[in-house]
Amino acid sequence: MASAPSKLYADDVSLLVVLLDTNPFFWSSFSLPFSKFLSHVLSFLNSILLLNQFNQVVVIATGCNSCDYIYDSSSATNTDAESGRMPALCSDLLRKLDEFVTRDQHLGEKDSLGPPTSSLLSGSLSMALCYIQKVFRSGPLHPQPRILCLQGSTDGPEQYVAIMNAIFSAQRSMVPIDSCFMGSNNSAFLQQASYITGGVYQKPQQLDGLFQYLSTVFATDLHSRTFLRLPKSVGVDFRASCFCHKRTIDMGYICSVCLSIFCKHHKKCSTCGSVFGQPQSDVPSASNVK
Ligand SMILES: [Zn+2]
Ligand SMILES: [Zn+2]
Repeated sequence: MASAPSKLYADDVSLLVVLLDTNPFFWSSFSLPFSKFLSHVLSFLNSILLLNQFNQVVVIATGCNSCDYIYDSSSATNTDAESGRMPALCSDLLRKLDEFVTRDQHLGEKDSLGPPTSSLLSGSLSMALCYIQKVFRSGPLHPQPRILCLQGSTDGPEQYVAIMNAIFSAQRSMVPIDSCFMGSNNSAFLQQASYITGGVYQKPQQLDGLFQYLSTVFATDLHSRTFLRLPKSVGVDFRASCFCHKRTIDMGYICSVCLSIFCKHHKKCSTCGSVFGQPQSDVPSASNVK
């Protein structure tokens, strides 16, 4: 595989793309109120901007039905001749966030499928990678990009393929995906995302000290990470979802041509059309899915 073109970075200047989970079904049932969560996040964003005058912060909201850019510290509206780019204009961010949540809820009312429990992480990851690609193509000198997922909702197995594609795309562009997961169980998607891209996965134990976690772990720029010992994941859940029912499975069948995953034997691969032989009854061609 050809490696990504060498990039000329200023060592410790960061472009931080934050994916903010706004799923109202998660936040309404969670111990930490969304407003408290936001105050931790806003302090964190401002501290990133204060660490280096060239640091850039982009915030993308991850809703249940849509995703959108809600803040960009480099955009003209946030750049003021007197105050520079800091601190982040919270009023502007909060107004856009409010508009986004209302719009996202309206989109959900059109669907009669009932409340979705997961957020559109695949969408916001793709938007973050698009933004980063734009920065890569803007010239040889640009801040070092990384993605931070602030996620609470459970994984949506139906997004498995899209999320894995985004993860591999980030890996190829050498963009680490950091994950701060606040939900009750661990997120297998985010564990895999951080593991594969060399980012940090952490599940804060004390949510009233969220800012502490954000500022000590996730504020670290990529250059400084080579000198620091950041928390390592204890274990990663590598389970995959089948392409046929979008269920998380432990064992499954894999198409030998395109590596599609199925929970049971099919005559034909629904992805690439390859025709499979009959499974042997005593030794199924199942292999451990990793
Ligand atoms: Zn299936
Ligand atoms: Zn196939």
